[in-house]
Amino acid sequence: MSTGTLYIISAPSGAGKTSLITKLLETLEGAEMAVSHTTRKAREGEIDGKHYHFIDADTFLNGVHNGDFLEHANVFGNHYGTAKKSVDEILNKGVDVILEIDWQGAQQVRDLMPGCLSIFILPPSKEELEKRLRGRGTDSDDVIAKRLGQSVDDIQHYSEFDYVVINDDFDESVETLKSIFIANRTTLERQKLRNKSLLEGLANK
Ligand code: 5GP
Repeated sequence: MSTGTLYIISAPSGAGKTSLITKLLETLEGAEMAVSHTTRKAREGEIDGKHYHFIDADTFLNGVHNGDFLEHANVFGNHYGTAKKSVDEILNKGVDVILEIDWQGAQQVRDLMPGCLSIFILPPSKEELEKRLRGRGTDSDDVIAKRLGQSVDDIQHYSEFDYVVINDDFDESVETLKSIFIANRTTLERQKLRNKSLLEGLANK
């Protein structure tokens, strides 16, 4: 059976990544998010097991020690990690898996899974980035200033990614993301895996 493809989607805070992925998953079949583990506190409206698995630092570090994570990183003082199990369960169903992780995690996953594809989402300008960070309204000024400063460091990693999507118009960016998935499903290599018997049958006289 063909397995799915692993996609990494990264972005600086405020580029609109989470909203884009949420919308993408509403319209694209055959793709699921892997739910990450984190030691950060849940924000209002976030559901344990859906947005993140919220765990304490001891449990997290135990998981790291046991080799449970495909990748893990410290972002803004909190631990974040992708459990190997969450990824494998999705890939083994033949479904594409999306990891919404930072550039540090992306580097680790690329080394371990060379067949993965990575997408970096950028805001259309620094002004717009700041506006979006403020518009979210869930973080204090200090946190926003820290994230804005951090964003430039994050953005410097754009050239490590296979695709770069500039999120100016939201709907257009969703379509662009969707087209990346669909195009990759039709490469010869993927089609040979996904539709092996059909291709053999059609080519048979
Ligand atoms: P937030 O706390 O705003 O949800 O996420 C902060 C940052 O952590 C974002 O850049 C997000 O992509 C990243 N992140 C979320 N989950 C993971 C993960 O499992 N691994 C890594 N390396 N980064 C993650």
